[in-house]
Amino acid sequence: MSAESSETWTARQPVSGPGVLDHATASLAEADRLMTICNACRYCEGLCAVFPAMERRRVFTDGDLDFLANLCHNCGACLYDCQYAPPHEFAVTVPANLAELRAETWARYAWPAQLAAAFARNALVTTLAIVVAVAAFVTAIGVSMGSSFLEVHTGPGAFYDVVPHAVIVLVFIAALGYGLAALSISLRRYWRAIGGGALRWRDLAGAGRSASTLEYLDGGGVGCMNTDERPTDTRRRYHHLTYYGFALCLASTTLAAVLDTGFGSEAPYAWYHPVVVLGAAGGFGLIVGPIGLLAAKHNRDPDLSDAASRPMELSFLVLLLLLAVTGFGVLVLRATAAMPLLLAVHLGVVFAFFVTIPYGKFVHGFYRYLALVRDRQERTAT
Ligand code: SF4
Ligand code: SF4
Repeated sequence: MSAESSETWTARQPVSGPGVLDHATASLAEADRLMTICNACRYCEGLCAVFPAMERRRVFTDGDLDFLANLCHNCGACLYDCQYAPPHEFAVTVPANLAELRAETWARYAWPAQLAAAFARNALVTTLAIVVAVAAFVTAIGVSMGSSFLEVHTGPGAFYDVVPHAVIVLVFIAALGYGLAALSISLRRYWRAIGGGALRWRDLAGAGRSASTLEYLDGGGVGCMNTDERPTDTRRRYHHLTYYGFALCLASTTLAAVLDTGFGSEAPYAWYHPVVVLGAAGGFGLIVGPIGLLAAKHNRDPDLSDAASRPMELSFLVLLLLLAVTGFGVLVLRATAAMPLLLAVHLGVVFAFFVTIPYGKFVHGFYRYLALVRDRQERTAT
């Protein structure tokens, strides 16, 4: 699709008239227009879960459209398959519109509402959070340690020479607790808006399977599109590396906390210890995955994405990379005099990550999971 045709048709106004609901925003109105056309066409119903969910409706409320937007995995297939895509006068561009609306939903349901603007300025907010948190940790730790900040610390409990155990627990439980509480309130608002019903284990498990395999990022079985209409599956592979890398890092941190708190076995651990093995494997995925996704994003057909969301997507990938790289730095150089500084930097990045959890791209996995649960509820109810 040429840049010229894209420019011409993205300026198109949403339709209005009998049977079309009023919507809160222009992207919701455009999504209504597109879904109404798609509901008459139905050519793409085998591509993903969005089109069958669309077919269960005749009119589209804001909640319906927010649900469909997060059910979309942005595989791109329905743009290249569409006979009504630009330059056709219907100008059907489902992936880009749903991507725009998806980002809009995260801000709409954010808690507290006053911080929803952080989504629009996400790159700036994330950068500021990282810089301020790293500076604060390095300064506080450097001042409290004095000259031993530049010395070697080894043996069990060496990390607690840098930051006392009680401080780590208090500061990070508070930061993570805030991040998860704010995210939970946002998700609860979203769940109500999309008409979510009572939760059942089979829906939760089925949605978990779909999410963990990225079932709907396969373009209907051929693979996802990125640069052009040729399916590649590159994004799915790098997304898996990122997702499972993050999960392994989480498992490593959780195991370390259990061993430390429950069994008095203090870090640092030997190279062959499960905590280190899980962390190293996770860190590898969390470096290779985001780098691959950054490259894929660089090459992505702009007609498939929402340009306004790009800074948020890039800053999230960079934040994940920083988490992994600084964590690896601590692991590899833990027996050197650089360890206190590296640990302070790593803790600053982790803190920034925790407090920005509810206001950046990290939320997409949770919204998508709830959309998948809702989809299963609807499928078994009809
Ligand atoms: S995206 Fe195009 S081809 Fe697919 S259902 Fe919609 S109008 Fe039809
Ligand atoms: S981009 Fe892919 S996942 Fe999204 S609606 Fe189109 S076919 Fe479905």
